[in-house]
Amino acid sequence: QECTSKELIEMESEFAAHTYHPIPVVFKKASGVHVWDVEEKQYFDFLSAYSAVNQGHSHPKIVSALITQAQKCALSSRAFYNEVFPQYAKYITEFFGYEMVLPMNTGAEAVETSIKLARRWGYVKKGIAEDQAIVISCKGCFHGRTIGVISMSDDPSSYNKYGPLMNGIIKIDYNSTQQLEEVLSQHADRVCGFIVEPIQGEAGVVVPDEGYLKKCYEICKKYNVLLVADEIQTGLCRTGKMLCSDWDGIKPDLVLLGKAISGGLLPISAVLGSKDIMLTIKPGEHGSTYGGSPLASAVAMAALDVLKEENLAENAQKLGEHFRAEISKINHPAIQLVRGKGLLNAIIIDPNFTVSAWDICIKFADNGLLAKPTHDNIIRLAPPLTITLEQIDQCVLIIKKVFDSF
Ligand code: PLP
Repeated sequence: QECTSKELIEMESEFAAHTYHPIPVVFKKASGVHVWDVEEKQYFDFLSAYSAVNQGHSHPKIVSALITQAQKCALSSRAFYNEVFPQYAKYITEFFGYEMVLPMNTGAEAVETSIKLARRWGYVKKGIAEDQAIVISCKGCFHGRTIGVISMSDDPSSYNKYGPLMNGIIKIDYNSTQQLEEVLSQHADRVCGFIVEPIQGEAGVVVPDEGYLKKCYEICKKYNVLLVADEIQTGLCRTGKMLCSDWDGIKPDLVLLGKAISGGLLPISAVLGSKDIMLTIKPGEHGSTYGGSPLASAVAMAALDVLKEENLAENAQKLGEHFRAEISKINHPAIQLVRGKGLLNAIIIDPNFTVSAWDICIKFADNGLLAKPTHDNIIRLAPPLTITLEQIDQCVLIIKKVFDSF
């Protein structure tokens, strides 16, 4: 049944409970950097499903891997072995230089899994007293929406009236190695892990000082604490390197991947780490029906291949610099700051300006560019990494035109 955008939006608000606060654009078709709505209007996608479609929408190689595997064998659950997962496990660990992978589905599940791993490692290897383990998170963090994960957040809209929350968390300022050192020196014998985003995406593309992650890593080593890098949004070429941690030349103890690990085709996530940490969880002590499915394994391998084959890190780095330089030239009172790394960027809108980031995003959409505000006055701009220089320039013109109209 053909419905208009308006009808579909009404249908959804009648029958579906709330999660996000969406921009009123209804996707019908998507390919590469483009999306079309049900009225066939074409847009550039500058959200990329929160960096899940780094490879561009419906990349043919990933779609083909999905179809081929779906027709052969989609799911075994790890109650049995399957032909593809061991090969994917070998592939992804070699790809990132880690000893083992633990496959899950959503980003939040990878984060939950990393908390379990850090705590388990803390008890079994570090010798933390039973039920005393502490995980350190950062203010402004976003790691997902499950109870354990929102317990690490300091954003009331994430945790309000969902309590009681999880214990054993200390929240420190992002970008403060001093606070990290203070907390670790006070609670050295209880802290098992420090979970951090190399750049805080949802907080509004907050880029820490140069060398922050490296310093954090050194402090964690000093106190025998695991550094857990949540690369779910920053990883997989988004910031101009395969992992954002690569900018600091460090190898986090645990790396969390999600989103673009499937190029937007399936919810796939992964935790990467050493045998020393991973093998503290014994058979039967963790699991996921879909995690490590043959379908997910085939899709993830194809999606990772594309990142390398198409040099997407390099493209993100080069075009990101160009994009920020061009956007910075827009001289408009609404624009307070332009910041980012690679193709993970944001424009900070002056909160006192007469129109809001939301209004600006609505006008972007009218002009064929999709972006979404975060935290009222920040607009994240993160196109698929397959975007070309000509397309970026076209988008800069759209952005400029919209600002000039206010
Ligand atoms: N971690 C980070 C850094 C994220 O940006 C997100 C989602 O935006 C998540 C975790 C949660 O991922 P998911 O929505 O797949 O649970």
